[in-house]
Amino acid sequence: VIEIRGLHKAYGALQVLRGVSLTAPRGHVVSLIGSSGSGKSTLLRCCNLLEDSQQGDILFEGEAVRWRGAGMERVPADRAQVTRLRTNLSMVFQQFNLWSHLTILQNVMEAPVQVLRRNPAEVEARARALLAKVGIGDKADAWPAQLSGGQQQRAAIARALCMEPKALLLDEPTSALDPELQQEVVKVIKDLAAEHRTMLLVTHDMRLAADVSDHVVFLHQGLIEEEGPPARLFGAPRSDRLRQFLSATM
Ligand code: ATP
Ligand code: MG
Repeated sequence: VIEIRGLHKAYGALQVLRGVSLTAPRGHVVSLIGSSGSGKSTLLRCCNLLEDSQQGDILFEGEAVRWRGAGMERVPADRAQVTRLRTNLSMVFQQFNLWSHLTILQNVMEAPVQVLRRNPAEVEARARALLAKVGIGDKADAWPAQLSGGQQQRAAIARALCMEPKALLLDEPTSALDPELQQEVVKVIKDLAAEHRTMLLVTHDMRLAADVSDHVVFLHQGLIEEEGPPARLFGAPRSDRLRQFLSATM
């Protein structure tokens, strides 16, 4: 579904991604791990064009993003294509980012109704089903501030799913939560993985990465240092950097 080829991204003089290639095939979960500052969030944000990149290709279902200009001037050339890609790659952030002035149900319904112009009655039915699926069906009419962090993050996941995306991009969805609340969100992510949802998951939770991933990518200073199936990567890391990283985090 998503393919990145040789992606380069800099913030001014700071080279953050230095030629990263990865593929998240349909139905697969690919996890990104690596130290703070290694470029994981940047890579995720480049995938759905929240960030520009200077070199390399981004393909969605085989269709390459079209660019105008080059280097620091490079920007997506086709607005409609950008919208299509963002709609199909729903993002879940570390800080759930729910709209505080909307109820949970309204949060989940907002983009499909306002952006995609879907039928409100159908969206509402889907939204309620998704809230039930993530275990907060009784919170539809509550305000975000009335929910625990774990409940808010599950609402944010329901909101992302309500767009009916082809893939989910999750940036440390459990990091802002207390350990006991993390488990509620981990369960939802495991359920989605069991349904063979395509996901690109950034996480500091090595157990989660080991449990749900088909493929794990270890990013180091903007380059892929090592990648492979989780059992191999965690069980028999080859690079010293990955070994060091794992011994510091596990
Ligand atoms: P963490 O695990 O802490 O979330 P990360 O791997 O997600 O780290 P990124 O957020 O991708 O790291 O950041 C990679 C590098 O890019 C860091 O050095 C960071 O300071 C820098 N960076 C990120 N966003 C910006 C920005 N908007 N402007 C300038 N530099 C940035
Ligand atoms: Mg990050």
